[in-house]
Amino acid sequence: MSAPLFDGLPPLSGEDGGEPRLVRIALPVPIDRLFDYRLPDRMPATLAPGTRVRVLFSGQPLTGLVVPPDLETGTEGAEGDRPILRSGRTLAEIESVIDEEPVVSQAMMRILGEAAHEIFCPIGLALAHALPPGSTPRVARPWALTARGERALSQRALGADALGGDGRPLLEHLARRPATLASLARAFPRVDVGRRLASLTRDGLVERRLEQRAPRARVPTERFVRLAPGVDVQEACDRTLARAGKQAALLRMIAAARQGLATRAITRGEAQVASRLRALARRDLVVFEERPRLDAQDSFLDGGDRVELTEDQALALRPICDAIARRSDETFLLHGVTGSGKTEVYLRALAEVRAAGRQALVLVPEITLTHQIVARVRARFGDQVAVLHSGLKPGERLAQWERLRTGQTAIAVGARSALFAPLETLGLIVIDEEHDGAYKNDEGFRYHARELAQKLAAHAACPLILGSATPSLETRHRADRGDIRRLSLPRRVGGRPLPAVDIIDLAQEKARNPRGRKMILSRPLRQAIEEALAAGGQTILFLNRRGFSTRIFCFQCGHAERCDDCDVALVYHAAESQLRCHYCDLVREVPEHCSGCGDPETALLGVGTERLEEETRALFPTARTMRLDRDVAARRGHTEQVLRALKNESVDIVIGTQMVAKGHDFPGVQLVGVIAADIGLHLPDFRAAERTFQLLTQVAGRAGRAQRPGRVVIQTFVPDHYAIAPVGSHDFETFYREEIQHREALGYPPFGLLTRIVVHAEDEAETSQAAETLARAARAELAEAGGLEILGPAPAPIARLRGRYRFMLLFKGTDAKLLRRVTERTLEAARRLPRDLQVALDARPVHML
Ligand code: ADP
Ligand code: ZN
Repeated sequence: MSAPLFDGLPPLSGEDGGEPRLVRIALPVPIDRLFDYRLPDRMPATLAPGTRVRVLFSGQPLTGLVVPPDLETGTEGAEGDRPILRSGRTLAEIESVIDEEPVVSQAMMRILGEAAHEIFCPIGLALAHALPPGSTPRVARPWALTARGERALSQRALGADALGGDGRPLLEHLARRPATLASLARAFPRVDVGRRLASLTRDGLVERRLEQRAPRARVPTERFVRLAPGVDVQEACDRTLARAGKQAALLRMIAAARQGLATRAITRGEAQVASRLRALARRDLVVFEERPRLDAQDSFLDGGDRVELTEDQALALRPICDAIARRSDETFLLHGVTGSGKTEVYLRALAEVRAAGRQALVLVPEITLTHQIVARVRARFGDQVAVLHSGLKPGERLAQWERLRTGQTAIAVGARSALFAPLETLGLIVIDEEHDGAYKNDEGFRYHARELAQKLAAHAACPLILGSATPSLETRHRADRGDIRRLSLPRRVGGRPLPAVDIIDLAQEKARNPRGRKMILSRPLRQAIEEALAAGGQTILFLNRRGFSTRIFCFQCGHAERCDDCDVALVYHAAESQLRCHYCDLVREVPEHCSGCGDPETALLGVGTERLEEETRALFPTARTMRLDRDVAARRGHTEQVLRALKNESVDIVIGTQMVAKGHDFPGVQLVGVIAADIGLHLPDFRAAERTFQLLTQVAGRAGRAQRPGRVVIQTFVPDHYAIAPVGSHDFETFYREEIQHREALGYPPFGLLTRIVVHAEDEAETSQAAETLARAARAELAEAGGLEILGPAPAPIARLRGRYRFMLLFKGTDAKLLRRVTERTLEAARRLPRDLQVALDARPVHML
């Protein structure tokens, strides 16, 4: 027996008395509350939490999720905290129940409820993430007979004169089943169906219905055949099949496969074999069953279980295995340089979890960019692995989901949304490249995969491994505080050297070589390219271009204007010709000349990948050169083409943006050139230095992964900057110690809490006013308390997006309770704004643009 649905409430007597039976559900709507629906008598007496139901919400069909009765809603004291049975109020009915058994675990609902509360997300939007793929209702609006139409048809009360000759067949057709206009038009090609339906509607005989269709996602199945229970094969062959040798042989083959065989694999399209199979079924010797079809598996080649772990790896693995065995929810930071064997440690930990008969979850930043690790997990664990990627059709995704839920598959690998996969016996979570920005969801339910994984691990009592060569400041700092345990792999496997990194001081280069000052590629970088070409090695030229054109960045001296208070770059606004701080709204005039070096023409400069490509082709006309950036990546298949060329070594120089920085492992790459390492430092984001260090280190890790010793050349105007200089010695710790001091001094995370509110609308003045209104509400709440900084409103760093103006407010402080109160007041004020004004709140912002 499951627990009573509404514990602690007055008994609801649905069967015998007048009071309705209620079910509390979450709906995917931006209202922070749960909803009570009436359970009609024809439905089961109770619905277990985790069951999906279909309801109408303001006339819209939605999929609801039955929640545990004690699930907390986001806002304290909000209506809907408890079912409220108001007399006279008619509660809407549940239309239908979708599942026979729960498809979402109570633990998952509690985790999402808690996370939603923490980040001010309407609870239903968060819970919707846990629904199996294909849960969004599909609706159809077919034509159907009205009651009057049915009566008229059965009483034969329709005179041919009243309806016209084709009225009756149309009604008879609809009496069998409702049909869409298109299907009616196909069935009655010679009738003007539209006009006919219009006249039947006027007579009240037909109507359009709102009909909910089953979700499109269906688990694809395959027919299997196996020996019927209790059959003695020998006896059957000797007696029943004594004169049917071929059937006997077939029966033996089926009996030999204990799990049964796919009928497709047996018959191979041969009608005779199929008929023998049917004959066996008629004799009750075999039975058929439909099973979910497994997707095509890769071949498993690795077998790498036999590699001997290095001493570092063995040391790192031991406490992890220990935590797996103890079922402790300890978090580990696996901090190892690229190529240090982190993946091998994950694989061993996964094997340990499998041996214990439990399931595991492996998260990667972007599944398309990380074939490498996916392939290795697959290679080692074969069809125990479900790869959840966005390329799956809904049905395939659902199939994977079902196999995980029922325990048929043990390991889920996927991007952040794989967190919601139903793993009932979770024994380990791995987050690879844990610092990656892709782990943050920037829309709707703005969760961070790392934080959700932490909760999931706590509920499941299982360890969590955060792996990276360049951990996020938050994670590294948690290790400092002793909240999590740091395991380090300081060396590459097999004594392979880390690539040699040269940091080129562009200012010095330009001074030394005044005639070459307009060149993008410095002399040492040109020389390195020549050497790589001569040795037959490949070169990647990396240009981090993001947000570049709006910065005042002098390409002569590398100077960029910054806000002293917020320590972020000022943004150039062409319309007003002003510089602006996008955190505190400081405004400054654009300097006449570069205030760093006085150069008159370079105060505003952007260099694009196109110009770099031009220069490269001119300098190295015989080299095979390709470009990969967001513009060309939009062309179908282009990204794959470039990556393939890198892999096959059919290209010499690749010019690229972020897209080439991640996850790929190209053995032929000998040189990586970074064109302007400073650019990322000047984004108006307090994480700019962290991102720059991570990106440069990651890019540098691309070089020399295989036999060739790799080389990295980094061009910069600030060779001594703490986010750039340590890249040269692969020295994360030096960078970390500097950066953590800056964060502490300015009260940024992980020391302070930050909340970001963006107001956006089409009209600029209106948007700005609304942002002011919210700021006033926040400051009013703060007036008595103090202790929290309210920055702005200021135009958001991306001040206009898809035709909407954006203004940003930042709350910064250390008092979590106070921050919560101020945020709640601000949200209340936001609810009173006119409808066209949208307010986006991020309680843990990662991206500040
Ligand atoms: P990371 O994930 O830290 O970048 P990998 O796990 O990919 O490192 O290891 C780098 C390379 O070293 C891979 O080719 C891997 O197969 C190999 N490798 C890892 N561990 C060992 C080991 N103990 N012995 C031999 N080779 C190893
Ligand atoms: Zn400022």
